Amino acid sequence: MAPRKRVITVICDSLRRDFIGAERTPVLADLAARSRYFTQARGVFPSTTRTSSASIATGCQPARHGLAGNCVILRDDDGLQCHNVGHPAFIDRLRAITGATLKVPALAHHVRPVGGALLMSNVSAGAAYFHDPEGHGEVWHRAGSFGVGRIPLLPNPAARWESGAAGDAAMTQAFCQRVEQDETLAAATLWLSNPDHSGHRSPLGSSEHLLGIAAAEVCVQAVMTLVERLRAAGEDVLFIVGSDHGMQTIIESIPVTRLLVEAGLKAGADSRDVVIAPNGTAFTIGVSDAHAHRIAALVTWLGRQAWAGEIFAGAQLATIGLADHETCRIAVSMRADQRVNQAGIAGASFYVEDPDEPGDYVGRGQHGGLGTHEQSPFLMIAGTGFAAGVDDAPVSLVDILPTILRHLALPAGGLDGRPLQATAPMPMPMP
Ligand SMILES: [Zn+2]
Repeated sequence: MAPRKRVITVICDSLRRDFIGAERTPVLADLAARSRYFTQARGVFPSTTRTSSASIATGCQPARHGLAGNCVILRDDDGLQCHNVGHPAFIDRLRAITGATLKVPALAHHVRPVGGALLMSNVSAGAAYFHDPEGHGEVWHRAGSFGVGRIPLLPNPAARWESGAAGDAAMTQAFCQRVEQDETLAAATLWLSNPDHSGHRSPLGSSEHLLGIAAAEVCVQAVMTLVERLRAAGEDVLFIVGSDHGMQTIIESIPVTRLLVEAGLKAGADSRDVVIAPNGTAFTIGVSDAHAHRIAALVTWLGRQAWAGEIFAGAQLATIGLADHETCRIAVSMRADQRVNQAGIAGASFYVEDPDEPGDYVGRGQHGGLGTHEQSPFLMIAGTGFAAGVDDAPVSLVDILPTILRHLALPAGGLDGRPLQATAPMPMPMP
């Protein structure tokens, strides 16, 4: 009988690839040396956690899965409005407004023919729920855990997991126990809050940020030990460890909505003609069809703003994986450069003020745009089909699902990504 195949994935939210090394991440550096280590991995746009979670789960860009940000614009009976995807109730709101959740099947749906899927997540409810929005597997999150069919698990086994090191540690312990005991699981994913948790609260490279990375490493080490035990017992485990995006340092917070109103391009702060969806170091703009004539003026005005980086409208949206639609006519990645912060960490960006998350974030970590370091997640894969070595192929978050499906001998076609078993590694150790 062939050995049982499984895929175990760990996401260290927000960990930048340039932080991987013997000094800052000894556990991950050791794993990288024994894995296929992808040196050119990229995120999606916006490089936000909820969008990234949906892209990892579906193997598709936001244009196809439909979740174009941590905050997205929807049209309801009153017109366009911005919604926060992170809120636990958003998934039901989305279904009520559009009749669906994600527009394409997610990981748990794909793997059903061979077994169950489990996600334990310690980031936002939205990022957790959009990994398996239709409840084909199990999702554990503090805001509510669900079994197959989105039937609530009561009492909630994740109720006490808070974002941060302690919650990540408790979740990791539960994850390892469950994966070891449940032979029906074909795909199990652990989504750690660190170092996103510490990076949003402190300067990148500061002692607090590095403590968050160290805490995430302890969790990765625990899962590595589990994987070794399962392999020793004869299982064919594919082990994927990576991040969803990196981070940039915030230079300045820009009140984009207010500036648009002052420029006469939007009727008022809460008006439905032109609507902003803030996404950290990026934003999208929905323009109601009745005001579509304003798109050209918006693009011209944005092009004159010192804080605006790359601007995409119309057919250009497809080049960053977004669909051109009333709810997303323009996308902007805030201006980014390579200036260094107080800890000597390069990569800085302007930030879009978010009325729902007031506070002073200048000098701390953030993401959402196309800046070099927010678009540099790390990715390492160990197991069948992945001889150890450095691989400089351009790969993306959307390649993770097809890779999982290939390992499980399931069809992996028709997705935006491709199985990475097919790429050729360079047979050399990590420097
Ligand atoms: Zn994230």
